[in-house]
Amino acid sequence: MTGTAHQWAAAVHVPITTEQARAAASTQQMTIDTTTSVTMDGIYCTACRGRYGHPHTGPSCPVEIGGRH
Ligand SMILES: [Zn+2]
Repeated sequence: MTGTAHQWAAAVHVPITTEQARAAASTQQMTIDTTTSVTMDGIYCTACRGRYGHPHTGPSCPVEIGGRH
């Protein structure tokens, strides 16, 4: 009995400068300032990719196997 839940993550749009874009393109990583405002593009589960608030249509969430959700 696990009683686990989805692993929610937020997909966001982060406005960056050309310099940041150049660095992010090569490293695939970036650090943003805490005052940077981001735009939400949705919430999804990193385990099953199910979107928050939408019924599951894909494979079962791995973290839900053996438990109830
Ligand atoms: Zn899930």
